[in-house]
Amino acid sequence: MVAKRDYYELLGVSRSATAEEIKKAYRKMAMKYHPDRNPNDKEAEDMFKQVSEAYEVLSDPRKREQYDRFGHEGMKSAFGPGGFDFSRDFTHSADLQDILGSIFGEGGGFFDEFFGGGGGARRRPRRGPTRGADLRFDLEIDLEEAAFGSEREITLPMSEECGACKGTGVAGSKGRETCRHCGGRGAVISGGGFFQVRQTCPVCNGTGSVITNPCKTCGGSGRVKSRRRLTLRIPKGVETGSRLRLAGKGEGGIQGGPAGDLYVVMHVRRHALFRRDGDDLMCDVPVSFTEAALGEQIQVPTIDGYAKLKLAPGTETGKVFRLRGKGMPNVEGRGRGDLHVRIVAEVPSRLSSRQKELLEALGESWSASNFPTRRRFEKQVEQFFERKQALGK
Ligand SMILES: [Zn+2]
Ligand SMILES: [Zn+2]
Repeated sequence: MVAKRDYYELLGVSRSATAEEIKKAYRKMAMKYHPDRNPNDKEAEDMFKQVSEAYEVLSDPRKREQYDRFGHEGMKSAFGPGGFDFSRDFTHSADLQDILGSIFGEGGGFFDEFFGGGGGARRRPRRGPTRGADLRFDLEIDLEEAAFGSEREITLPMSEECGACKGTGVAGSKGRETCRHCGGRGAVISGGGFFQVRQTCPVCNGTGSVITNPCKTCGGSGRVKSRRRLTLRIPKGVETGSRLRLAGKGEGGIQGGPAGDLYVVMHVRRHALFRRDGDDLMCDVPVSFTEAALGEQIQVPTIDGYAKLKLAPGTETGKVFRLRGKGMPNVEGRGRGDLHVRIVAEVPSRLSSRQKELLEALGESWSASNFPTRRRFEKQVEQFFERKQALGK
């Protein structure tokens, strides 16, 4: 395998380049090596992938910092689930539109400006087999599902090739005729003399023909709305932002073209007990102040069931105990995180008269050494007022 080239070197920018400089450099490179401009040029395609990858990293401050510190090695974890998937085939314009669309904002001004002319790859006239669009589906799951993995049935709204007309949009064999507006050329020339502008024909959308007898099922669009049920296997350890790619489960292709991919983006709901930080979990556990003072054994919930935890006598509220390996499973199978249990000593309320008496007796028995934190605090308060007084204030 060839060693990976330095991302800065690929984009031709210095290591201190600003975000704006990086974006500019990428635009230039993307235009130069774009597969539409270099058909059947494997080298250009390869360069295009490389510069896109470099841009993906250097345009993200977090990933850039990681790359600066650890180089390509540091990118392995960044491109795990939820990261950027470079196994995607960049030669498909629809893919590219997705990627550049997300980089340069929806609407793809970049595309309109430099590549499409007629406005983006998707709106380009469809001639012959075309790959279906990639779809994104946002899925909310519970922490339990993220912890143990699960199977979910999802229903996807999508559009598929119309079966009645096989995607042509035409009913019968003679439902299409040459576009009169452009004479079948698919483009019209406007303006005159020196400044002639060639535009996609607005009547036939560049296809050169118009439908005179549209298919009744799809109304001439060649596509019908449909719903598809899918069983989705959610792997253990996914977190909010994790993306699952289901190859070929996107929108159906056009005229025999391959289907697009489906990206399922995970959103893990907030959990009543556990907060998550990477693979670690946090849990606040209330205990009575006598349990905390005496250092009793308590039960704490973990995702595997109850665990026993022995408090040290005099455990203060806010004290955190770590239970190794009781956190979330790592999505890449690298073991499990830890569970951090934070003790919250609860002050008793709604006391009975008997309890009140006991507490009052207890209160009278306290000496300063029972409360070292309070003693320290009171000393600091004293010192503060002394210094204040010394200043004559
Ligand atoms: Zn036309
Ligand atoms: Zn149809």
